[in-house]
Amino acid sequence: DPSVSGDFATLMGWADKARKLKVRTNADTPADAAKAREFGAEGIGLCRTEHMFFGDERIVAMRKMILADDVEGRKAALAQLEPFQKKDFVGIFEAMDGLPVTIRLLDPPLHEFLPHDEKGQETVAKELGIPVQKVKDRVEQLHEFNPMLGFRGCRLPIVYPEIGDMQVRAIISAAIDVKKAGKSVLPEIMIPLIGTVAELKILKERAIKLADELIAASGVKVEYLVGTMIEIPRAALVADKVAEEAQFFSFGTNDLTQMTFGFSRDDIKSFMGTYLKEKILPVDPFQSIDVEGVGQLIEMGVKKGREGRKAKHGEHLKVGICGEHGGDPDSVAFCHKVGMDYVSCSPFRVPIARLAAAQASLAEGGKIARDK
Ligand code: PEP
Ligand code: MG
Repeated sequence: DPSVSGDFATLMGWADKARKLKVRTNADTPADAAKAREFGAEGIGLCRTEHMFFGDERIVAMRKMILADDVEGRKAALAQLEPFQKKDFVGIFEAMDGLPVTIRLLDPPLHEFLPHDEKGQETVAKELGIPVQKVKDRVEQLHEFNPMLGFRGCRLPIVYPEIGDMQVRAIISAAIDVKKAGKSVLPEIMIPLIGTVAELKILKERAIKLADELIAASGVKVEYLVGTMIEIPRAALVADKVAEEAQFFSFGTNDLTQMTFGFSRDDIKSFMGTYLKEKILPVDPFQSIDVEGVGQLIEMGVKKGREGRKAKHGEHLKVGICGEHGGDPDSVAFCHKVGMDYVSCSPFRVPIARLAAAQASLAEGGKIARDK
């Protein structure tokens, strides 16, 4: 247990003095956040919000939103979801006690919240007091042949801005409440799956307007950032322009790997074994980012992003990674090499990432800074 004292704690202390990379965690609940802090996490690099919509009352409201006929109907359903969402964020901010918390806006395709079987659809119709045919029609309408390339990520709030508004309001009003209670907070709003600068610009400006209005009305000062994920190859290619609109980048290497190789992240079982055996690939690219292609895109994304931000705003672009690779030692070494600011991984991998970050730093001649 790396949270206890003793030799292991001493070793981790040395690692922390040697490393340059910060280590954050991917956490969606206050319990995970607290566990990760025990393991030494220095913030949350990815809070996925989709899991928060599956609780009993929440899923009913979520479905009401998806099945609503118009924007007013969607807003009414979202208003039911907002207090739950706000409560989630209050819990996470409290658990992180002033450390940065990156919250990603809703990412998955909406059909994931609707049942695809007849019986489930009948239940939803009954719950919402609508004809079952309506549920079936909506499921049919939302059906996609390639959902991972479909109506998800930032495309959702571009089409339905009220969804993004609800989440931004919940994040900022939670931060305001926590701040009012005397704690510090550092929310970072993260917009997923952008491929064009315009997507980010539209959503960022809308988020800032809403957040600043809430903060001004509250009378307390809350600092927050708005940034984006780099997980579509095009976003890495135009990273200099993206960075003009982003206060931070976080590489979503699960999607980035999927889209760079054209390998579905959920469907590699049938061929990856052969590919590795036949040495078509040196390593499973979903395990390590230090592989030609994805690695190049990341390196380019960091460099162009930093240049773009500096040129336009004269400031450092904060860059991290939040895909599964963030807890893989070789990938952590790669993140160190390309000059990222932090890696983010699951709570139990935090100690591994701390050690890997220290090894990477020492391997290039870094010294253990004893006075840190
Ligand atoms: C990613 O794509 O790497 C990522 C962190 O997001 P998700 O796994 O939720 O798609
Ligand atoms: Mg992703």
